[in-house]
Amino acid sequence: MTVIPNDIDNLNQLNRISPLFDIQLTSYGGRACFSTQDIPKGTEVLLTSEPIGSVILYEFRKEVCSSCLKYVYGEVCKIKADEPKVANVDEENQTNSKKKGNKKKFQGAGLWFCSEECKVQYQSKPSCNQLIETFETLLTYYQTKVKSPEVEDDDSEFKPIITKEYIDSFWEEVNQWDITASKTKHSKLVAQQLPKINSDEYTTVRFVTSVLHNLHHTHSETSVAYYHSLQSNEEDKIRAFPTLLLSQTLVYKFLRICLPEHLQPLLSTDHFRELCGREYGNSFGIWQQTSTNTEAGSIENENKEFLGYSLYPEASYFNHSCGPNLRKIRVRDRMQFETIKDISKGEQMCIDYFHILDEPRDERQKILKKNWFFDCGCDRCENEKI
Ligand SMILES: [Zn+2]
Ligand SMILES: [Zn+2]
Repeated sequence: MTVIPNDIDNLNQLNRISPLFDIQLTSYGGRACFSTQDIPKGTEVLLTSEPIGSVILYEFRKEVCSSCLKYVYGEVCKIKADEPKVANVDEENQTNSKKKGNKKKFQGAGLWFCSEECKVQYQSKPSCNQLIETFETLLTYYQTKVKSPEVEDDDSEFKPIITKEYIDSFWEEVNQWDITASKTKHSKLVAQQLPKINSDEYTTVRFVTSVLHNLHHTHSETSVAYYHSLQSNEEDKIRAFPTLLLSQTLVYKFLRICLPEHLQPLLSTDHFRELCGREYGNSFGIWQQTSTNTEAGSIENENKEFLGYSLYPEASYFNHSCGPNLRKIRVRDRMQFETIKDISKGEQMCIDYFHILDEPRDERQKILKKNWFFDCGCDRCENEKI
């Protein structure tokens, strides 16, 4: 994860994320946040904007409010998204729907809400109608019975030695497929090439779509610049989970066949790989919240149900420490970061990535290595070294 100094210069030319900290290169490589002044305990140092991409896992789609992310054990949300009015749908989308034979009854796009207010708030976002249309189309295709053979779940045979070259060659085949697909009639593609995807892959489809939609429609230039500055962890992640490579190609082909035309130009194998690579190790899990409530929101301090994940580029520069000085609090679909200790000027500001502070050193190291691809060298880990 080497970073060229220019990256930092570019970041510093952007609006400062917060007056309370700067992003700097560390002596051990990579970027980190350092306080610009003494900061007392209990100070909010960052409240993110809405995520640039977010998704609720398929199995929880009816139980988590798509707007405030509230989850109550097994309680099903009663309110679905409204069908976008035809008058609000642009011509391109209408022809797209017709072309793709999307005449099924509107199902709510897989978006559920805990209250009327949450629905209204979600649907008042810019270009939300297009997003709902897109999600509805993806849902319809996901439910389509496909003729292509199901990829076997038993991938025990798939144990390649993962190198950058191997991953590149894998995607080169997809590039060839792309060229052929671009010359094939859409109905034929749907009939013969639509991949059968599982619920995890469908979750990825929705996550990638949310990022593409936000890049196309809603996010500020600054936020997009932070997104582009994120490091990709593609190689590390694929090395840890080789079958992801097969999964990714299915997701890519599914998106190529099913995405509406206005998002197609943002989809290329290169961007798709970068997008997935940036999500790995940079996104924040959406965890079931504990009952510890503050005025600001609920504090995520226990390892509960994993409901989905979100990407907040401006919050991705906080490193992990097993003795953190910040805590993260989810406030609806945003993340707030608050000091839990007095911080001196120039000190690095760190969070706990995975609620692992109660684990022994070895276990913490293992979890961080597997999910974030680094050996934790924090003060606590150094002190606990045998
Ligand atoms: Zn809600
Ligand atoms: Zn540590």
